[in-house]
Amino acid sequence: MHVLILGGTTEARRLAESLAAGTRADLRVTSSLAGRVGAPRLPPGEVRVGGFGGAEGLARWLGDHAVDAVVDATHPFAGTISSNAASAAATTGVPLLALRRPGWVPVEGDVWHEAGSLEEAAGLLPSLGRRVFLTTGRLGLAAFAALEDPWFLVRSVDAPQAPAPPRMEVLLDRGPFTLEGERQLLRHHAIDVLVTKDSGGEATAPKLTAAREAGLPVVVIRRPPVPSGVPTVADPEAAAAWITARLRQGTTPTER
Ligand code: NAP
Repeated sequence: MHVLILGGTTEARRLAESLAAGTRADLRVTSSLAGRVGAPRLPPGEVRVGGFGGAEGLARWLGDHAVDAVVDATHPFAGTISSNAASAAATTGVPLLALRRPGWVPVEGDVWHEAGSLEEAAGLLPSLGRRVFLTTGRLGLAAFAALEDPWFLVRSVDAPQAPAPPRMEVLLDRGPFTLEGERQLLRHHAIDVLVTKDSGGEATAPKLTAAREAGLPVVVIRRPPVPSGVPTVADPEAAAAWITARLRQGTTPTER
């Protein structure tokens, strides 16, 4: 059985690790990365890098490489590849599972302002603060480029490119982040508003706690929905169980 993991997340890597640890001779695992990050943390097993060429290209790739199942373990905000995966699965009949870590939920003391897009978040900012901690990734900075007044602390894995806000400092870093580190960052830069995607997960959640403790407003960008009809699990263990169940279905009783 050949499984394709569409990756680029901690969960995708953990799934590849757990499948590799199983060392099953009847299971071949290929992880796919978009190639956005300069030095990605590579999962074990086979790895391919770069786009497929849209939904049609992905469908072709599934056929050419005899893929039996696909796990879409991409980031909750990687909407294009998820919709391409749903459409390629529908045309080829290859089973597809979405692995999505749950979104964050506000708790008492949080001052959250929800936005449907980066543009909407940019529209909210002038009424919320003047020193912004922007953690939405380097590729969406254009949405904030027209904001001349606020100062931005932009944290990203790789250096951003123009268009970007005119007044900004870039902090190159990659999670997981600690609560104490996030507290210090907010204090040191006198941050008065945080902007984040609802990425979910523990690695980048301490910024939310630090903002809550400091009483700061947080602009939270809502996730795009998982394409309809795609079964979804919340953690790598459940995705591994889905693959194991398919492996069992695909073997005869004497082979088990
Ligand atoms: P996207 O907008 O959904 O995808 C744009 C295009 O990139 C896709 O159409 C596809 O190209 C290619 N692509 C995306 N993920 C791929 C993968 N795993 N393997 C091969 N090709 C892939 O995605 P994005 O938001 O740019 O994110 C790119 C990657 O970074 C994703 O894999 C995601 O898991 C990871 N990531 C994203 C975010 C985020 O906030 N968006 C955060 C952390 C990590 P073709 O159409 O040519 O196939």
